Amino acid sequence: MKTIGLLGGMSWESTAGYYKAINEGVKDKLGGLHSAQIAMFSVDFAIIEKLQNKGDWAGAAIILSDAAQKVEAAGADFLLICTNTMHKVAPEIQRTINIPVIHIADATAETLIENGIKTVGLLGTAFTMEQDFYKGILEEKHGLDVIVPNLQDRKIVHEIIYNELCLGKITPASKAEYLKIISTLCENGAEAVILGCTEISMLVKQADTTTPLYDTTQIHANKAVELLTN
Ligand code: GLU
Repeated sequence: MKTIGLLGGMSWESTAGYYKAINEGVKDKLGGLHSAQIAMFSVDFAIIEKLQNKGDWAGAAIILSDAAQKVEAAGADFLLICTNTMHKVAPEIQRTINIPVIHIADATAETLIENGIKTVGLLGTAFTMEQDFYKGILEEKHGLDVIVPNLQDRKIVHEIIYNELCLGKITPASKAEYLKIISTLCENGAEAVILGCTEISMLVKQADTTTPLYDTTQIHANKAVELLTN
């Protein structure tokens, strides 16, 4: 079995979800007492979040590249960056390591396309919803049409991620806000919605809505499990 590399801590709440999803996937695939071989470096998110806020992506790339090199040195065969947002610096990280970075947007787009989805809503941090490093991959590389919430709703989605979900805080009021925004995305033509932030599935579950939800944590974890024995 290959060893999965995880670059975690962004936030640790969602990395715990990766750990569980990957091990459940390995158990389903291999049975018995099998569990995943994982090499992980988990960063201090407070430092990363400050750099994001200042727009110092180069500074964040240096820290994450250093962490990725440690994961490679620990024996990982490939790397998952356990956050959508920090894929902004995935190309910089990839340049410093010899193992492949398994891109979360590629894994998500492949799953959507397999299911015949063409127009999709995207929820995530403002960086993910507004910048090209993520939406661009979905649209230009994979040919999907991506719809994002309006400015006011993007602000709500973003603030709930940093002020609540990354702190492990789950509230019914925020869940209701998210479900309203998901409905609006559907009214605007989305056939499905990407939970494009690795904490969102802590708040909104498939059972809460009839809109098909694509949870990027689960999709990314599934991809890692698929690659384990390839
Ligand atoms: N985990 C989040 C994501 O998937 C947000 C935290 C971060 O900024 O990395 O984008």
